[in-house]
Amino acid sequence: MPELLSRWRQSELFHCFNLLYMSIIIANWKMKLGLHESHDLADSLRNFKADDKEIVICPSFASLSNVGKILKQGKIKLGAQDCFWESKGAYTGEVSPQELKEAGCEFVILGHSERRKFFNETDEVIHRKVKAALSAGLVPVICVGETFEQRQQGATDYILIKQVAGALEGISADFRQRIIIAYEPVWVIGTGQAIMPEQAELAHEVINQTLIDLFPSQSIRKIFSIIYGGSIDSENIFSFTSLPIIDGVLVGAASLNAKDFIELINNA
Ligand code: PEP
Repeated sequence: MPELLSRWRQSELFHCFNLLYMSIIIANWKMKLGLHESHDLADSLRNFKADDKEIVICPSFASLSNVGKILKQGKIKLGAQDCFWESKGAYTGEVSPQELKEAGCEFVILGHSERRKFFNETDEVIHRKVKAALSAGLVPVICVGETFEQRQQGATDYILIKQVAGALEGISADFRQRIIIAYEPVWVIGTGQAIMPEQAELAHEVINQTLIDLFPSQSIRKIFSIIYGGSIDSENIFSFTSLPIIDGVLVGAASLNAKDFIELINNA
């Protein structure tokens, strides 16, 4: 039985089913919770189940193991907020994708705008991390998005194409891999004011076309999901998740409290 289940999970059909029918909700706890707070929040979510949605929680590195142990008993999956591109070595302060895998992670957020801004992460750095994450068997959640100035200058499409291509060019993608692109307009993150769903839809179309151009021989929807992130809450979530081109959401502030987060998931 476990062998059958594992074969089903590796099959193309399972993969497509997951990508096409399950909306994904990824919580980014950033560096906003202490160890005890992370423990308590994970504990209040441990038995939560949303049959038609895939839920992922990304705590800080220091809380990963503990939160992972708590979530293991339930249906919520574990992710990290970053990783390094090497698997081992003298890289003080870094964490490898292999370690994340060992800690129980299935997902890793890469290229978040806060890392691009505060740690000068370039498309080249993100590209290396994406490759390393994929070879460790993690699902990369690659964040892309324009700043307010870039939008004002009419450069949104250019930035999205540049960041998606920068992260993925030269990577061989096939249906056994799963890659998530999170469209996160930098200027609405953490403001409490999301963009209009129609604006997100246009950006998702640009990302989708870029993926088609990068991987012309692949069926894009079998490998990639495109999700939206930026001030999602329980009130606005459905106006995004109800759009066919939006496969899910990345949530910051509204994932830091069990009641709010559960309400948000139920409304998706
Ligand atoms: C984020 O930082 O990825 C994010 C989506 O944050 P918020 O929901 O708080 O805007």
